[in-house]
Amino acid sequence: MITKTIVCPKCKNQIEIQGNPGDVILVTCPKCDTKGKFSFPADITEIEKTTDSYSIQIDNLTKIFKDVTAVNNVSFKVKNGEIFGFLGPNGAGKTTTIKAMLGLIHMNTGKIKINGYDIIKNSKESRTKIGYLPEIISFYENLTPVQTLNFFCEMKGQDKSIVKPLIKEVGLEDAMNKKVGTFSRGMRQLLGIAQTMIGSPSIYVLDEPMAGLDARWVKIVRDKIRMLNERGATIMFSSHILSEVQNLCTRVAIINKGRLIAEDTVPNLSKYLKIKPRLEIEISGLNGEVPNIIATFEGVEQYSAKGDILFITCDSSVRIKVIKALEEAKFEIKDIKTFEPSLEEAFVRLIEGDK
Ligand code: ADP
Ligand code: MG
Repeated sequence: MITKTIVCPKCKNQIEIQGNPGDVILVTCPKCDTKGKFSFPADITEIEKTTDSYSIQIDNLTKIFKDVTAVNNVSFKVKNGEIFGFLGPNGAGKTTTIKAMLGLIHMNTGKIKINGYDIIKNSKESRTKIGYLPEIISFYENLTPVQTLNFFCEMKGQDKSIVKPLIKEVGLEDAMNKKVGTFSRGMRQLLGIAQTMIGSPSIYVLDEPMAGLDARWVKIVRDKIRMLNERGATIMFSSHILSEVQNLCTRVAIINKGRLIAEDTVPNLSKYLKIKPRLEIEISGLNGEVPNIIATFEGVEQYSAKGDILFITCDSSVRIKVIKALEEAKFEIKDIKTFEPSLEEAFVRLIEGDK
C-alpha cells in the first residue's frame, strides 16, 4: 500500500490517498467536492524484495480486537518448500494470524513478508503467488464445480481451460455436473483446494483444511497437500489437532492464547510438550506404600503406589538411578514398565492445563 498526498486542482487543499501500484482511484476533495481520478504508477521503484530462503516471515505480529489480544507479539518463519503446521486450540489466534498475513485485517504492530515482499509496502506483489483456503468457504449452492471455478478464474484473470483438468486433479470428476449444494464437507474442501490452485501459487495458506472431516477425507486432503508440496509449493496450514500435522509437516509452530510457544521440528516438539515417561515398578510386598527414598529423590516429579506397583514420573535420565537406589535399599523388583505418553496426549494436557 502506498500513501500519497495530492493537491486539489481547484481549492489547493491537500488530500492524503492510499492505493497499490497500478490502482486507479476516484478522489473527491473533502473541502470543495471536486472529483477526479488518480493513477498510482504500476512500476513503483520502492518495491522491496529480499532474496532469502523464507516464503513467509512474521516479526512481532500483534493484533488486538477491542478487548481481546488475539495475537500477541508472534514471530516465525516458513522456509521455501516446506510443509509448515500452525497448531493451536480453538481461539488461539491462528485465523487472525493468517488473515493478517494476507492483508485481510490490519495488524496493530508487526512486519510480515511473503515471498520476500513486505505485505504493506508491496501488498500486490506479496499476494500474487498465494493460494488461500479460508476456514469457512462459501460457494454458490446452485452452481456446479465447473461454474464455480470458472467464476474464480474470472476473478483471478486466469484462463478457464484449466478448470476441468483441475477438477479431475483434485478427484471431483464424478461430481463435475452436480450442484455444489449437494456436496459433502470433504467434497467442498476439495473444491476449495482446487480454487486455491488457480494461478499456480508457490505458497498455499490453508486454514484448518481438515476440520470436520472423517478419517477417510482427512487422508484425501492430506494426500492433496503432499501432492502440492511435491510439485515445489510451500504449504502453511493450521490445525487444532496434533495428529493432523504430526505426519505431514517438516516443522510446526504452536500458538496458545495468542502467544507462540514453540517453533520446531515434530520430533523436537516433545521438548515443549514436556513429555515425561511414567515408570511402573512392581515390588514384592510394597502394599501401597511409597518408599521413603522415592519421596525425596531428586528428579522424581510424581509418585504414588497401588498394591505392589510403584508409579513414578521422571525424566528418562533419572529412571536408571531410581531402579538402582531401590535395589540398593533391598526392595525386590519383579517387573518394570515404562509408558511414554503420545504427543497427542501431551498436547491435549498442555491445552487443558492452560485453560
Ligand atoms: P483460531 O483461529 O486459533 O481458532 P482466532 O484467530 O479465530 O483463533 O481467534 C483468536 C481470538 O480473537 C479469539 O478470542 C476470538 O474470539 C478473537 N477474535 C477473532 N476475530 C475477532 C473479531 N473480528 N473481533 C473480535 N474478536 C475476534
Ligand atoms: Mg481459526
